[in-house]
Amino acid sequence: MPVEVGGATTPALAALRHWVFDLDGTLTEAVHDFALIRRALDIPPAADILGHLAVLPADEAQRKRDWLMQHERALAEAATAATGAVALVRALQGRGCRLGILTRNARALARVTLEAIGLGDVFDEADIIGRDETVPKPAPDGLLYFADRWAVPPAQMVMVGDYLFDLECGRAAGTHTLLVNCAGEGWPALATWRTPDCAAILAGLDAG
Ligand SMILES: [Mg+2]
Repeated sequence: MPVEVGGATTPALAALRHWVFDLDGTLTEAVHDFALIRRALDIPPAADILGHLAVLPADEAQRKRDWLMQHERALAEAATAATGAVALVRALQGRGCRLGILTRNARALARVTLEAIGLGDVFDEADIIGRDETVPKPAPDGLLYFADRWAVPPAQMVMVGDYLFDLECGRAAGTHTLLVNCAGEGWPALATWRTPDCAAILAGLDAG
């Protein structure tokens, strides 16, 4: 069962029917080397990569975005599924849940990634939101888009991710948050639940 680390008034995970997943490191094995990306693009170690690119002169920003797309396309084509990720998504699909992807990657690369891990048929185009479709995480905009699209209160949704931005995004939007695939201490104050991996989420659903 997922370990609950948030408030006491949370629903059973199995009661939630609206799930939004981060992609890289959540449904896939983490492969992004952000230190390498920062070095290649001359971005300071502590800077937000997308935020840094957003304020550069237009030609420099475009050149660096092109490099990033090329770099990330190679990663997407070689993506492998995280432990339990495919089975979890298929199980939720089988239960008739609404499923979305909210990623700081590009939508086109999210498609490539989903194909690579065998989930290319699951998500409607409009249910894959990348960095060019909304204000990127940790801003709440992407989750609020799904709440509006699915006509469901954020409190009936869960954001699943492996990083701080996923949890901050969920908290800002008012959804539940589920931290997976995080080896360190995580961010206990921001996570409704925490599980080692997607296989543990599915085990929790089946138990609930
Ligand atoms: Mg991630």
